[in-house]
Amino acid sequence: YYRRSWSSESSDSVISSESGSSCYRVVLIGEHGVGKSSLANIFAGVHDSIDSDCEVLGEDTYERTLMVDGESATVVLLDMWDNKREGEWIRDHCMQVGDAYLIVYSITDRASFEKASELRIQLRRARQKEDIPIILVGNKSDLVRCREVSVAEGRACAVVFDCKFIETSAAVQHNVKELFEGIVRQVRLRRDSKEK
Ligand code: GDP
Ligand code: MG
Repeated sequence: YYRRSWSSESSDSVISSESGSSCYRVVLIGEHGVGKSSLANIFAGVHDSIDSDCEVLGEDTYERTLMVDGESATVVLLDMWDNKREGEWIRDHCMQVGDAYLIVYSITDRASFEKASELRIQLRRARQKEDIPIILVGNKSDLVRCREVSVAEGRACAVVFDCKFIETSAAVQHNVKELFEGIVRQVRLRRDSKEK
């Protein structure tokens, strides 16, 4: 069903759909309650803000083709980080299978922000030699009066992480489309620099 689209040491996870458009596996990670599933639901089109069809591949897996900068990309989004039923192995699995990661915290929860740093370190350890595209996501930006983490702190953290940063609100659907387009662009940037 899937075939490799380009070769590199770690390209088992880099897959391409039969139509020839690129396919990327994007994994949501972050503390419970920060809004990962809410972001996934928007992606899945539950609220229908991103046009084009979504296919639900499994309970926690969503696939949809996005048009980004005039080129289509199929994103398979995995939201299984909090799946306790499956046990701890699922987190190891998540750390291994992503082509790109969205590390999500809530701007209203400093502990979740600190957890994000831990996850960045874990990811670096799990995928040592790879330059993996990551976006640090400060969600719940609509809750201005409960803010515990400033925009400046989020941005500074992303510099340390060597990744992109965005604040989103799943509740009012602010920057969510931009988030998913952004991760496609990050994957492409690395792909294009590899091809040269
Ligand atoms: P998960 O555990 O990371 O998957 O988080 P959920 O998506 O289940 O969200 C946890 C709670 O936060 C739910 O009650 C959501 O309705 C709420 N929530 C998620 N995103 C936002 C947001 O952007 N703003 C606000 N105000 N609430 C949010
Ligand atoms: Mg969830």
